[in-house]
Amino acid sequence: MSGLRWNVGDATVTRVVEREAQLAAGSFIPGATLEVLERNRAYLHPWSVDDEGRMGLSIHALCVEVDGLKIVVDTCVGPHPLPGIFEAMRDDGSFLTALAAAGFARESVDVVICTHLHFDHVGWNTMTVDGELVPTFPNARYLIARTEHEHWSAASEEAKEHATAFTLHNTVDPLFGFGVVDLVETDHRVSPSVALFPTPGHSPGHVSVRIDSVDATAIITGDCVHHPVQLAEPACASGVDDDPVQSTATREALVAATLDTGILVIGTHFPPPTAGHMVTTPDGPRFRPVG
Ligand SMILES: [Zn+2]
Repeated sequence: MSGLRWNVGDATVTRVVEREAQLAAGSFIPGATLEVLERNRAYLHPWSVDDEGRMGLSIHALCVEVDGLKIVVDTCVGPHPLPGIFEAMRDDGSFLTALAAAGFARESVDVVICTHLHFDHVGWNTMTVDGELVPTFPNARYLIARTEHEHWSAASEEAKEHATAFTLHNTVDPLFGFGVVDLVETDHRVSPSVALFPTPGHSPGHVSVRIDSVDATAIITGDCVHHPVQLAEPACASGVDDDPVQSTATREALVAATLDTGILVIGTHFPPPTAGHMVTTPDGPRFRPVG
């Protein structure tokens, strides 16, 4: 495991990593060119942009413990077959070992939150045991936004493929047969300290997670932002954002809501140190990592 854990009042949030990668500038965020990264270098190098101008991207679960609950936010790529070049990202089970080592053995998890239904967020929702597909977290309720589920239920195979929502038949559809899904509103309250809030654009029913405990607040972003450069340059949309205009508005709202507030912003794909604060700088609002 990565060892990254944050206290948020009485809550803890633990990062459990499945995979980390360095990707070329302008690849998965087309607007994040070398030039754009260079003008943000003071805020991004070396932790999220390396010496060669490559962008760090991490795939991890964020595991919350609060209110007597163990909550896993997003379940990474998982063990199921993937098309084409994505097959190389398939997990060999190491993630479950890391999850247990972090105190989140799969039987102990009470709630799984899917921020949206792209393949790298739902993969370990299910697994195969003795040839049978089963819920990986047998005692958990799986929370999925109703609007997100409706969108993908109506989507063509081509649209799913394009948006990397290509494992639903293995990772989401079977959950309904197991009776473990709660379709919820995008502002659903999970527990006294944890609530969802809508952050659409990357996908129509995308949600982020807010944790309020004692006098502290944290936000788990999901994919409304993939890389910290997008918090400096909100118009830099991800290549798979469903609606780049809406996703830009969502990022602008996220910056406005967190700027100079002390709210801990925990990035679902941010490389270590992964969490930080939005602060006013002479160059405008910027993400300042903690630690
Ligand atoms: Zn996504």
